[in-house]
Amino acid sequence: MGDFIWPPRSLLTGLSHGGQGLIPPEDFSRLSFLGGSGCRGCAMPMEADLGDATLCGACAAKPPRWQAARAALQYDDASRKAILDLKRAGRRDGLPVFATWMDMAGRDVLASADLILPVPLHYRRLASRGFNQSGWLAAALSRRTGRPAIMDALVRHKPTPSQGGLTARERRRNVRGAFTLRPSKRDVIEGAHIVLVDDVYTTGATLSACTLALQRGKAASVSILVLARVVRPADITI
Ligand SMILES: [Zn+2]
Repeated sequence: MGDFIWPPRSLLTGLSHGGQGLIPPEDFSRLSFLGGSGCRGCAMPMEADLGDATLCGACAAKPPRWQAARAALQYDDASRKAILDLKRAGRRDGLPVFATWMDMAGRDVLASADLILPVPLHYRRLASRGFNQSGWLAAALSRRTGRPAIMDALVRHKPTPSQGGLTARERRRNVRGAFTLRPSKRDVIEGAHIVLVDDVYTTGATLSACTLALQRGKAASVSILVLARVVRPADITI
């Protein structure tokens, strides 16, 4: 009925189209799906997939803090608009589609998950924007998988400015000590297998800072599941 009044707009281009769904076939083929493949530590695409043992050089040299990372899509020219529309414009109609892709990419880590948590925004950012896109993704994943999601278990203390344009080292410094556990949620975090959800994995600095807070709260394990992974440094614009 909605489509009858408003022709669907492509998630990728924003243009109305006459077909069914949110992504017309010609747009769909431009997306690069990672589908949970590549490095199991950081979701970076790799030429050879060695199953669960697949690790990139960076993760082999310095294993990430978390147990595993999975990404649904590559963040690139094709996926950028869909993600920015979610993040900045609050376009919500793509959430069920994004949750489907993330479920497929993170099936193994979701299978053993007790809780799904989003990367939080600082309360001032949340107040000015009105929503947390990672919270929306976590809620959509929870609806799809039946795994419970808690929106406010992690607290962001620093109103960290946009990480855009910062180096990996600057990003790490920017988020150091930025996250803690909400005291009232400590009991549910302790001993829990957690899937931490974000929209975009850039350098992993934010995800690593959140993971540290969860580990200090004695989480049994933390795995990362994101909608999109920045693969080429040139794509870092957010
Ligand atoms: Zn890696």
